Amino acid sequence: MKKTMKQSLASGFTLAAVTFLSLSASADPIVLRRGAATPAPATADKLAALHDTRDALVEKALLMADARQARLQTLAKTEARQKLLGEKQDVIGKGDTLAIVLARAGAPANHAADAFAAVTKIFNPKDLRPGQQVSVHLAPETDGDGVVLQSFSLKANVERDVAVTRQPDGSYKAEDKLKPLTTEISRAAGTIDNSLFVSGTGAGIPVDVMMEMIKILSFDVDFQRDIQPGDGFEVVFEQKVTQDRKLARNGRLLYAAMTLSGTSLKLYRFEDGDGFVDFYNPKGESVRKALLKTPIDGAKLTSGFGMRQHPILGFSLMHKGVDFGAPTGTPIQAAGDGTLKVYGGNGAYGNYAQIQHNGQYATAYAHMSRFAPGLRVGSRVRQGQIIGYVGTTGRSTGPHLHYEVLAGGTQINPLSVKLPSGRKLDGADLRQFLAQTKTLNDKMDSLPHPVQVASAR
Ligand SMILES: [Zn+2]
Repeated sequence: MKKTMKQSLASGFTLAAVTFLSLSASADPIVLRRGAATPAPATADKLAALHDTRDALVEKALLMADARQARLQTLAKTEARQKLLGEKQDVIGKGDTLAIVLARAGAPANHAADAFAAVTKIFNPKDLRPGQQVSVHLAPETDGDGVVLQSFSLKANVERDVAVTRQPDGSYKAEDKLKPLTTEISRAAGTIDNSLFVSGTGAGIPVDVMMEMIKILSFDVDFQRDIQPGDGFEVVFEQKVTQDRKLARNGRLLYAAMTLSGTSLKLYRFEDGDGFVDFYNPKGESVRKALLKTPIDGAKLTSGFGMRQHPILGFSLMHKGVDFGAPTGTPIQAAGDGTLKVYGGNGAYGNYAQIQHNGQYATAYAHMSRFAPGLRVGSRVRQGQIIGYVGTTGRSTGPHLHYEVLAGGTQINPLSVKLPSGRKLDGADLRQFLAQTKTLNDKMDSLPHPVQVASAR
């Protein structure tokens, strides 16, 4: 039924076109003949009437042609508009602004301006980044043949879309669309080729997780001397991912382990009954000790493999401390809580700090490029607090931290200092800790590899 109708419509159009063409072709010759001959009056009248009818038909045909032309023009205009309509995807390029992207999509300038004003209420245009996806929706104007900016949305990041929608009154409203996130437990492991930081990030450990791992291991590991090529590392941490498994952000570090020359060191995150969070060894002993073994950002240490000369030296009668090679300006941390006993220039030591931790131990830091603002002799410092920055002041051949541990005023080998372990879990806390570590150990091998940061595209 439908097909028949279509066919008859099509043939109708063809017929009209043929009639139109034949009329146009015969029009002029008839007009010419009319003036040339002088027929009998009766015949002449009939002929004149016939010619008038013909002329009327010709005029009608010409009008039809004009109308057709106008229709074609409207059609072209409609087609051009049609191309703008609907939802268009675009990607923020270098130097793009939202205004540029909206104009590129064909949004009227006044709509783009209003929509932009709306979006800035919830989104800082400075957060626009190349690669972010934009979707622009243009709709036909209801009282005209133009277009309206119906809506646009921007993927601000993997967990947040910012959407702007045209309201019935023609104004624009912006809203945040947060995507639900789930927590995944990821595991990464590897072997150290050169530096833990380089090998770790190479194994897919995000930088922020790496930093936390190094921080908690700094109580037990001397990152300058303890690490040898072939040593292993392992880390388990949370990742917040979107439903399409794109990484939104990394969560908490749950477990960090290292195998140093065959000796394994395992640390588990645990929140005790009082809500206090710390890392514990498998026996439930806190990782926290009175002194850090690496009193400097372990990620910044320059590799000491194969270097036997200053500044990467071990402790000896001649060299009464240990050196950490790091770039000038690397923050130096107080190895433990204490009071600044010396803080200033000190001959061959250059810029020097000494912290008294308790009646027994003190630590000293030499060759600093500068001191930390606000500190002076007598200042209380907390473990991990920045007390100065790596440099090469005094008798020094290159930027490094010269670090000493003093017992009763005499330098001792920092590597041989045996500090008591921190607090030990007991009772219900210990039982829960052991159950929790068993659960993690059991599923350790089946944990997925970390989700990597997706590009904004
Ligand atoms: Zn030294």
